[in-house]
Amino acid sequence: MIIVMKPGTHESDIHEVSKVLESLGLGIHISKGTERTIIGVIGDKRVLNDVPLELMPGVEKLVPIVESYKLAGKTFKPEPSVVDVKGVKIGGKELVMMAGPCAVESREQILEAAAAVKKSGAQFLRGGAFKPRTSPYAFQGLEEEGLKLLKEAQEATGLLLITEVTSEKAVEIADRYVDMFQIGARNVQNFQLLREIGRSKKPALLKRGPSTTIDEWLNAAEYIMSEGNYDVVLCERGIRTFETATRNTLDLSAVPVVKNNSHLPIIVDPSHAAGKTQYISSLSKAAIAAGADGLIIEVHPNPRCALSDAAQQLTPESFDNLCSDISKMADILGREFRYAR
Ligand code: PEP
Ligand code: MN
Repeated sequence: MIIVMKPGTHESDIHEVSKVLESLGLGIHISKGTERTIIGVIGDKRVLNDVPLELMPGVEKLVPIVESYKLAGKTFKPEPSVVDVKGVKIGGKELVMMAGPCAVESREQILEAAAAVKKSGAQFLRGGAFKPRTSPYAFQGLEEEGLKLLKEAQEATGLLLITEVTSEKAVEIADRYVDMFQIGARNVQNFQLLREIGRSKKPALLKRGPSTTIDEWLNAAEYIMSEGNYDVVLCERGIRTFETATRNTLDLSAVPVVKNNSHLPIIVDPSHAAGKTQYISSLSKAAIAAGADGLIIEVHPNPRCALSDAAQQLTPESFDNLCSDISKMADILGREFRYAR
């Protein structure tokens, strides 16, 4: 349930309502909009049966929430959320570009990738250090050593860092190095991990699982938010269908559906959706046209030698061409993208 307060309600009335809810053992999440404040109530509502909340000063109405997720939904927060990662705003006017190799492989590789993506306008450097591979014998990532190399690349370029975390231990280690956590498609319903990220309070990019419905995905976001971390960005990266021409099927309808049902920003990963470099540019542009707030794209200085996802990583040159196109699209769509070359 949410409690909608009247426009211009005094802070002390919001405080009084919160006090009553807390005294009954209910959890509260407050969302302050431009016009009104909304109080999300979490817990067993039966304790409210004899409490005439609607009569309290400042209360406009009580609204039951039918969706299983609450904090991630539009009822709780009608205005779009902007996730601010050290000054880079995801979900605002600016399109956000996260780019870099699938995995950190060496100092030369990550420094070269970082310099290249920075030149083309990326705001974030991506690079996996804990790799969730299908085969236990495939390259598993450099772990903390990889994070140290990412940090070095950050010092050289000023890019923000995002990396995938696959366990609670990885969260603890990566927390010391990166600006944003990535939760991979395979971990979208790893509820312990989601709660840990919720407690960490660091911004998180939550990928959609290959077989998760949008509803399940928003519930996964709810796990993070229910721990008090509202800085969640969603990422559509393709779902599993009967089609085999691409690695996954990019579900672009997820972009407008998420925008309709949630206030959270959403970006698109065309790399893991397509699985093949020749489709990345088209899918990226389609994603931006559909209303995505940004992209996360795999870029490798020498894709043919990549230790993971070789077939889908763009060369710095192709990435640069794509960024040039995205900046032209941004002009048409009334968004911003600083193509930096
Ligand atoms: C990745 O970003 O390298 C990755 C493994 O992605 P996903 O979780 O979408 O498969
Ligand atoms: Mn990858």
